[in-house]
Amino acid sequence: MLEWDENFEGLISFLKDQKEIPFLLCDENTYKVCGEYISKELEKSRISYDLLILPPDAHSDEKNICKVLLNTKENSLIVSIGSGSITDTARFIAYKQRLRFVSVPTAPSMDGYASPVSALTINGLKTTVSAKPPEKIFANLNIIKNSPNILKKAGFGDLMGKFTALADWRLSNILIGENISLSVVEEMYKACEDTLKNIEKDNFEKLLLEGLIKSGELMTIVGNSRPASGSEHHVAHYLEFLGYNLFHGIKVGLSTLYIIRLYKTFLKIDLDNLKYENNITKSFEEWKEEIRRNFPKIYDEIIKENIERIKKFNNLSFRREIIEKIKINKRKIYSIVEELVEKEEKILEGYKKINFSTNLEDWKIEKEDLKRALIYSIYIRDRFSILTLYQILGILEGEVEKIIL
Ligand SMILES: [Zn+2]
Repeated sequence: MLEWDENFEGLISFLKDQKEIPFLLCDENTYKVCGEYISKELEKSRISYDLLILPPDAHSDEKNICKVLLNTKENSLIVSIGSGSITDTARFIAYKQRLRFVSVPTAPSMDGYASPVSALTINGLKTTVSAKPPEKIFANLNIIKNSPNILKKAGFGDLMGKFTALADWRLSNILIGENISLSVVEEMYKACEDTLKNIEKDNFEKLLLEGLIKSGELMTIVGNSRPASGSEHHVAHYLEFLGYNLFHGIKVGLSTLYIIRLYKTFLKIDLDNLKYENNITKSFEEWKEEIRRNFPKIYDEIIKENIERIKKFNNLSFRREIIEKIKINKRKIYSIVEELVEKEEKILEGYKKINFSTNLEDWKIEKEDLKRALIYSIYIRDRFSILTLYQILGILEGEVEKIIL
């Protein structure tokens, strides 16, 4: 899917061969970076095109989706020129309007380029919806290398989140029997490792973008987001919901560190004394009240989506089953944790090298908000993760308190 395209000759000659009209979608920044150049090249080649320039740093929200809807035609071929929000918007519109679509990434900043889903901001909350991956991705190495450092940090954070996403997937496979593809796990893992090893080297940005694109391709292969997203992404989405406007990958990169810490506390749990009938401390009404407090505006929806899950979490035979599985599979789970412990050190070194601060204050994130995110993000998506496990064991809040001092 990815084509490294010097001077966008590949893109122009591709567009020349299509009968659809290219619809260039940029924001003011990405127009300057290469949108303008691409439009001039199209003019030189006498290819007519449409152009929509959104305001700088436009979000993939209701307003911008509507703008794109109003401007695309039946025979548009969307060329999304940008990173996160631009691509998310394009991918969603292409899917909804059955339009063809290619992507021109301008930074290695996030994992969504090749993804079959879109993260839209609806009612202020990141919502994952079905979308369409691009037919092709035309990336210009010069542009990727010269992209702003903050975007590289974000992409790196997003990629490091795959380590915990893969851990959650394996955990879910072990404890609730969710399908897993070990070859996909291995392929994703390798892409992350390669990038991590080559930080500060000449091919770092190239590997970073390739790793991020790979995560989207692997999602398409398995038909869900497991290869790319786990509890670290849910925490990042909750922070977004609280209004933290940092780049997606920055939130994911930070959350990843806290999810690793939570995995580490698994080693300290006295597995022989886990009691399934303990820890159902909250009544259903108390739980609802908590959701009301922590999901203002959208609590009704969250309650509705989670009622069955909560019943399951509190179901004694389900809890007994999980605890039995933990005991039987403890070696396997320990080895997942041990791999993460080994990675933690390398990720931290990597963050240091690219000046990705791990200090919450530098990102203006309140500790209390991060705690809420770690506790309540499990209700954003019905996905089994280390957070869900701790919730079922009744230790989530206590463990979160311990890792954020
Ligand atoms: Zn991501």
